[in-house]
Amino acid sequence: MHHFPSPTDFLKKHELRKTPCRMAILESFLNTQNALSHQNIEELVGEEFDRVTIYRTLTSFEEKGILHRVPNMSGQAKYALCESNCDEHQHKENHVHFKCQECQNVYCLSQVQLPDLNLPQGYKVEEAEFLLSGTCDKCNF
Ligand SMILES: [Zn+2]
Ligand SMILES: [Zn+2]
Ligand SMILES: [Zn+2]
Repeated sequence: MHHFPSPTDFLKKHELRKTPCRMAILESFLNTQNALSHQNIEELVGEEFDRVTIYRTLTSFEEKGILHRVPNMSGQAKYALCESNCDEHQHKENHVHFKCQECQNVYCLSQVQLPDLNLPQGYKVEEAEFLLSGTCDKCNF
């Protein structure tokens, strides 16, 4: 897994004020090291913060380039931490995501880049989702 800055540094870099909810959500992502849905986050910090606050925090993190959306076959949106090269409204995610059928976790495989597709002339890609599923390194023992 890659190394991320501390919650404080994340907020400082993206010029967001330090609030208890922002700190708690960033810590949840740093501790679990995989993609989390709104519901997952509610299970982690929902005793301290209400749904609306969590929802707003996730939305602003996505806009600021702290979190990116992860494709999810079951429909419910998941989020994962962005790498340091993401800026406001300018996500540059070009990695593959992996869903484990055993533990249900979704991982960013940042070392696996999306394949270079030879599109016909006139087509321009704005977004790409690439989700693999199988068993992760932790469940494969
Ligand atoms: Zn991003
Ligand atoms: Zn697994
Ligand atoms: Zn990702």
